[in-house]
Order: sequence, then C-alpha cells, then structure tokens
Amino acid sequence: MPQLGFGVWQVPDDEAETAVTQALQAGYRSIDTAAAYENEEGTGRAIAKSGIPREELFVTTKLWNTDQGYDATLRAFDRSASKLGLDYVDLYLIHWPTPARDKYVDTYKAFEKLLADGRVRAIGVSNFLPEHLERLISQTSVVPAVNQIELHPHLQQHTAREYHAERGIATEAWSPLGQGKGLLEVPAIVAIARKHERTPAQVVLRWHLQLGNIVIPKSVTPSRIRENIDVFDFSLDAEDLAAISALDEGRRLGPDPAQFNLA
Ligand code: NAD
Repeated sequence: MPQLGFGVWQVPDDEAETAVTQALQAGYRSIDTAAAYENEEGTGRAIAKSGIPREELFVTTKLWNTDQGYDATLRAFDRSASKLGLDYVDLYLIHWPTPARDKYVDTYKAFEKLLADGRVRAIGVSNFLPEHLERLISQTSVVPAVNQIELHPHLQQHTAREYHAERGIATEAWSPLGQGKGLLEVPAIVAIARKHERTPAQVVLRWHLQLGNIVIPKSVTPSRIRENIDVFDFSLDAEDLAAISALDEGRRLGPDPAQFNLA
C-alpha cells in the first residue's frame, strides 16, 4: 500500500471524477473512498478513464454502519465493487465499530470470506479502539492489515499506535491535516515550513510519513493536490519532529468511536 494516498470524503460524486483524475495525474496511486461518501461511482469513472493499469492502483473503500452483519456485508460489498466498476478492491475497511450494534465480529467474518474469495486483497478496520481490536483478533482468524483512525498533530494517538505496532497492524491517519482547520496556522508548524521553504501542509504530511503513518490527505484544489504529494524530497530533523510532537492536545475533530453508534 502506498504510504500516501488521496482521500475523497465530502467530495460530491460529480466532483469526485475530476478530483480523482487530477490526483492520478499528479502521481497518487492510492485512493480512499467509502460507501458513505456516496462518490464511489465518480471515483470509479476516474479510475476507468485514467488508463492506468489496475495493478498499479490501490483502492480502499469502507462498509457503512447500517450494512454491518454477515449477509448484509456481502451484499454491500457487491454494491461498492459495482459502483467502483472493479472486480476486486485492494483494501476493505469496517468504517466504525459501532459497539452498541454488536455486529463487527460477524461483519469481519464476511470480510474474511471476501478475502478468501479474492474479492478483496486485504481487510482492515477504521475507528477501532484497542478494546475492539482485541475482541476482533480473539474471535477471528485474520489480523486486520490496517486501522484507519483520526490522527494529526493535535491528536497523536500514542496508545493506539503502540498497540497497532505490537500487533503488526498498520496505522492509517484520517484527517491527517486536521481538516485544514487551525492546525496549518500553528506558529511552530509555520516556522518549520519557513525553515524548509515548504508549506505547513507539507510539513505536517512529512511528520506523519517520518513517524510511519499512512496518510490520505484530501483536497479538490489542483495546486494543493500536487503540493500534498510533493513531500518526498525533504526531511524534518529531530528538532522539527519534537516541536510537532509537543502539539498533542488529545483533541478529536470527529466522534468518539466508543460512542458513535447511531448512524
Ligand atoms: P484532511 O486532514 O485531509 O484535510 C482536508 C482539508 O484541508 C481540505 O478540505 C482543505 O480545506 C485543507 N487542505 C488540504 N490540503 C491543503 C493544503 N495543501 N494547504 C492548505 N489547506 C489544505 O481532512 P479529511 O478530508 O477529513 O481527511 C482525509 C481523508 O481521510 C478523507 O478524505 C477520507 O478519505 C478519510 N477520512 C476517513 C474517516 C473515517 O472515519 N475513516 C473520517 C474522516 C476522513
């Protein structure tokens, strides 16, 4: 899986085709969508039109909460694959554990079937807390390849990252730029950007990459789409990394996975 990909949350279906096309032209090969984003069709159109060989692309989609359960998951996967226009998906994720629903173990067993049938190349989860992963691992056979969680300098997720590392689960950061809200104006980040003659977004993405996180920044602005992948020819030094690591506030932008059950 490429360590840097392109996220398309909140991109309407009719704009997703253009945004994904621009991302593919800029060199991204990994795309992160979800059934709930309602843009799998636009994403699929961009992939089909790109002419890029399928094996060079890495496509992630996610199962929505209301489709959890063994049979419902198999049906939901068929819908997603058909909207994307793909025979197989590279990575399929359970979008949220929704613990009150108590269906994520059965859901994951359907994921294991999709994996065995070759419909997906890898299976994983999103927004799972260590307690949810612990239960999943004890009751199923395949350790999730990835846990995609909210992670940025204001929410550094040390406990989750350590737990994932112990279990061989890759940590993927959603909202890696903190949704562009405030984080990119933090003086310490602006100062590091000036020092390297880079942008604050590039500095934050570089911090993630050097920590070993997978990142999927989103933008619909062509110059930012290009800027966000242009991060492989500079490095932050130990002082820069320490200054960013000092910004942790344990503050979520999104919901608490233990409480998010309704939708
Ligand atoms: P992000 O942290 O990627 O921030 C995106 C926003 O930052 C943009 O809308 C724009 O306002 C700003 N931005 C982007 N590039 C910039 C640049 N170079 N300079 C200045 N501002 C810039 O936020 P996100 O979209 O929430 O997260 C990225 C992806 O993560 C999503 O698109 C989606 O694929 C995934 N995601 C997953 C979940 C989940 O529950 N699994 C939840 C949220 C997001």
